[in-house]
Amino acid sequence: MKSERLHRLALDRYAAALRAGTATPYECLRYLEQRDSHGHSDREDLRYLAAVALVRHDPLFVATSVFGIGLESLTAADIDACIAAWTIDDDTLRGYLEAHLRLAVRALRLDREQLELALAALERARPAYAGEVEFLELRAEALEHHDDERYPPAIDAVIAATDPEWRAHPLRKAMSHAVALEHWLRYDALRARWAELPRNALCCECHTNFVADIDGLRALARGDVDEALRCLDAAVSVGGCPHLNSGGASLRLARELLDRRIALPQVAEHVRKAAQYRVTDRTRALTRELAERLG
Ligand SMILES: [Zn+2]
Repeated sequence: MKSERLHRLALDRYAAALRAGTATPYECLRYLEQRDSHGHSDREDLRYLAAVALVRHDPLFVATSVFGIGLESLTAADIDACIAAWTIDDDTLRGYLEAHLRLAVRALRLDREQLELALAALERARPAYAGEVEFLELRAEALEHHDDERYPPAIDAVIAATDPEWRAHPLRKAMSHAVALEHWLRYDALRARWAELPRNALCCECHTNFVADIDGLRALARGDVDEALRCLDAAVSVGGCPHLNSGGASLRLARELLDRRIALPQVAEHVRKAAQYRVTDRTRALTRELAERLG
């Protein structure tokens, strides 16, 4: 059993070095390691300082670190400064790491300029890395929120390159995107591929919940309300899993039914059952609106 007291001592020591502005890359790394792997939540500004120092010092850090590295609050200027400080002769590797860094900063992911810079960096990496699933995943990730035309072929390439037993995850992303844009024919084709996933595929209960939920939306789009309500029931007839228990159940079908004022008592029952996995802001909003509607 490791001593909590000693972990705290270590964290305080590296935090003091960061605060004094004298932290070495070793101390920055130890600070992030202790902070993340032992549940300490110390100051966000120290996490930020440590992350910037490490990404600047070690370009491979952003692509290979095994724990959370606190990139959330980096700015576009921080990224440019880090990349400018890198000494890497291999331009394909440089491009690949640059794309990793630009796409790792979640706050900037929705920024179109960052997206184009990340895609340009990936193009520089292409000659050496295009055969890797991770390269295709990064490209799809970059396009997911920005480009309705380039995203489907990009995620299809990820699905094709992923081993069948791991294919559920990218398929789910592709299906979600198709549903959001109401591209129902594409959804039907992807759904057929979902049905073909092998028995040993990594299929968690949250996947079953998710697919039933969007199958219901598909049925509604066809005008088949009975089928939509059957899907509504199926979506919450699953056991919990770590993802459902932390992120909550999909409630897109419930939202659609409520907006269309269809079967509200059943929708209310569905939302009540969904709350057994986890109560989220979505659950609360739906519960409140349903209570107002149903009186
Ligand atoms: Zn799950």
